[in-house]
Amino acid sequence: MDDTDCTHGRFSPDNWQFGGRGMPQLCKALQKIALIIPYRNRDKHLKTWLHYMHPFLQKQQGDYGIYVVEQVEDSTFNRAKLMNVGFTEASKDYHYDCFIFSDVDIILMDERNLYRCSQNPKHMANSLDKFNFRLPYQTLFGGIVAFTKEQFLKVNGFSNLFWGWGGEDDELYNRVVAAGMKVERPNPNISRSRVLTHPRDPGNEETRMSLHLINKAAQFMHEDGLNSLKYEIVSHTKHKLFTKITVNIGSSQQ
Ligand code: UDP
Ligand code: MN
Repeated sequence: MDDTDCTHGRFSPDNWQFGGRGMPQLCKALQKIALIIPYRNRDKHLKTWLHYMHPFLQKQQGDYGIYVVEQVEDSTFNRAKLMNVGFTEASKDYHYDCFIFSDVDIILMDERNLYRCSQNPKHMANSLDKFNFRLPYQTLFGGIVAFTKEQFLKVNGFSNLFWGWGGEDDELYNRVVAAGMKVERPNPNISRSRVLTHPRDPGNEETRMSLHLINKAAQFMHEDGLNSLKYEIVSHTKHKLFTKITVNIGSSQQ
């Protein structure tokens, strides 16, 4: 068996496990990758994402698992907290060392754009069709980000305090900088991606608190994040194409 990271070659369909786990057979993967998808009521997008991204991950010879983290309550959506839950629960499942946090509606177009972690946290959604494949602003850190376990622990994960749409990604960017790291991005020619269109979801209205919190990232990151995360698992089910973690994360009122 080849002991270098394998990113090209053949995927053996024998190497497949329930819960959305794939792994290469003919070479040894250097990274074990968990894909974490925040989710509520986006069944059509999830089906599309799985349809395109499983073959994509397999062609890249990934040793990977897919975790769909569903917020059970009707309370305001909290994308960032679901990401923290995904990181914590996936870590109990397998010794993953790379975590890729991805929206359910972004489909990568080029297989050279590797679902892998780098020396620094990596922003992978830097070339989206909806922004004409350009980066709208330099500190954008939304959509898809990849962290090694060490990098994610260093920033104490995402903030848990962003209820509603917006800001949690900018806050995470500030954590990365405050922790002395920088953001990497792939070449925009190979990171071209499609975004599935949708109206703003009910229960995910734009958050009003966010500017204040974003600017305080360096001050509060060590007390708000993975180390203050509270949730209750409602179910943890291995489906054929993904592991679904349904979770009660409370609400902003608590
Ligand atoms: N999301 C979801 N259900 C919701 C709201 C958000 O599943 O009701 C998840 C989904 O993965 C989505 C991500 O959170 O892609 C980010 O939300 P949204 O797509 O609204 O953000 P934007 O399109 O503005 O980047
Ligand atoms: Mn979206």
